[in-house]
Amino acid sequence: MTVNSGLDNVIKKINRHFEHSSIITNPVELNLYSCDGLRLHTSQPGCVVIPESTDDIQIIIKTCNEFSVPFTARGAGTGLSGGATSDAGVIIQLSRMNQIHETDYANRCATVQPGVVNSYLSMITRPEGYHFAPDPSSQIACTIGGNVAENAGGPHTLKYGVTTDHILGMTAVMPSGDIIQFGGKERYAPGVDLTCLMTGSEGTLGVVTEIIVNLEKIPETTRTFLLIFDQVAKATDTVSAILEKGIVPAALEMIDSLCIQAVEAKLKAGFPKNAQAVLLVELDGSKSLVQKDAELLKNIVGSLVSEPIQEAATAEERMLLWKGRKHAAGSMGQLSPAFYTNDGVVPRHRLTDILNEIYRIGNYYQLRVANLCHAGDGNIHPLILYDPKQNDEVNRSVECSSDILKTCLDYGGSLTGEHGIGAEKNHLLSDMFSEYQLDIMRGIKEIFDPNNLANPGKIFPGSSGCGELRQLSRKPEPV
Ligand SMILES: Cc1cc2nc3c(=O)[nH]c(=O)nc-3n(C[C@H](O)[C@H](O)[C@H](O)COP(=O)(O)OP(=O)(O)OC[C@H]3O[C@@H](n4cnc5c(N)ncnc54)[C@H](O)[C@@H]3O)c2cc1C
Repeated sequence: MTVNSGLDNVIKKINRHFEHSSIITNPVELNLYSCDGLRLHTSQPGCVVIPESTDDIQIIIKTCNEFSVPFTARGAGTGLSGGATSDAGVIIQLSRMNQIHETDYANRCATVQPGVVNSYLSMITRPEGYHFAPDPSSQIACTIGGNVAENAGGPHTLKYGVTTDHILGMTAVMPSGDIIQFGGKERYAPGVDLTCLMTGSEGTLGVVTEIIVNLEKIPETTRTFLLIFDQVAKATDTVSAILEKGIVPAALEMIDSLCIQAVEAKLKAGFPKNAQAVLLVELDGSKSLVQKDAELLKNIVGSLVSEPIQEAATAEERMLLWKGRKHAAGSMGQLSPAFYTNDGVVPRHRLTDILNEIYRIGNYYQLRVANLCHAGDGNIHPLILYDPKQNDEVNRSVECSSDILKTCLDYGGSLTGEHGIGAEKNHLLSDMFSEYQLDIMRGIKEIFDPNNLANPGKIFPGSSGCGELRQLSRKPEPV
């Protein structure tokens, strides 16, 4: 049976179970699902189904299985690696599964459906003094299901960890159609940690339909500092110096000059336009500890900063600084019609080197590259500016991204810190892992999904993925 005839059968059968408004087959509407936040990768799904419960998802997956049609879960579609796309398969759109089933403060956890928007959960729990710690910059839109699938991070990852550190358990519909529970409120379970395995598997092992998340106590006090530098290298050296002296800031974020231009043009967040880089340093905890760390911070940064250290004096000032940081990528429209968000990691002590290399590689390809970094984690986000109408520029952006990522690997880093592999980077995975390691991963996928129906073409090398991005490029010679 071809995928197309299989798809027709899936649609016919699903139509018997779901209301008309829960199935999209009109090509114009399907277009809306043809990409996620990575607009360089597009593929048209065969249909979109919008379930309301775990049982609904079971029906969809069993039907897909019956007719060998692939399926892909989709949250808010803010992913940046082409993960929530499907080539002629079924998209399972989870936006109607957006209920918080339980908040359990005695056990410091909440049970939520996957379509709950990240910041909404913290909004609901904040009056009780709790929040969901993972805070991707996209948190006003992205879903907790998407966070689980991508093992999302964010500015506060440095102190609080990534999504997997905050997931206690989950329910998932497996590719076979079985409903399985992983982990639970008990926090500790023997054996291989399958909850952890599911987290970050990008929808390739099953569809997550309910999640038990950890709730973190909101600290007694939070103070946010702005450090201004006349050289990028001084900012990156400061990152190492702060951590070496034993301070673990809640957040330690870097923005370079080009990013500052975009943010200030759009938001006027208060980043000086003549700075080469700024660091946002957030300290939180008990008042006495934060006071001690704040004094130490001022001593450490002493002569490295080009202007006196600034501190947000009010909640509004703090929010404005964070708005500048979290909407920095969104401000790029001030500088360019499009940009390609890169996501790589280097060991922290290589931050200066990687930024130098990024500027050099950008020059080589004659592209402007603005930089945002979760600097404390060594997680870089070069934003490669390009004009989508210029084919040559699009190609150069893809090659530029590939070279930056390969340099991260040369420095002992990683291909992704938080955006996942998706359809974007699967052709690079074998540069990072040995065949033996990849075979283990493929073996796991096969046990969970022997028919390769769960989000095929994502993560694993050799699977059909992102054609436009599969241009392996050589690193340019030094200029
Ligand atoms: C401006 C901007 C800023 C961002 N900042 C950050 C950041 O700071 N940190 C960070 O980590 N990311 C960031 N991202 C990337 C993105 O927001 C995250 O990856 C987020 O977790 C994706 O959530 P989503 O609901 O949009 O998922 P989608 O994009 O819909 O899906 C992402 C992947 O998860 C799978 N998936 C979704 N739901 C499920 C489910 N229930 N079960 C199984 N698989 C599922 C999909 O198949 C896909 O592979 C940013 C994106 C943008 C556009």
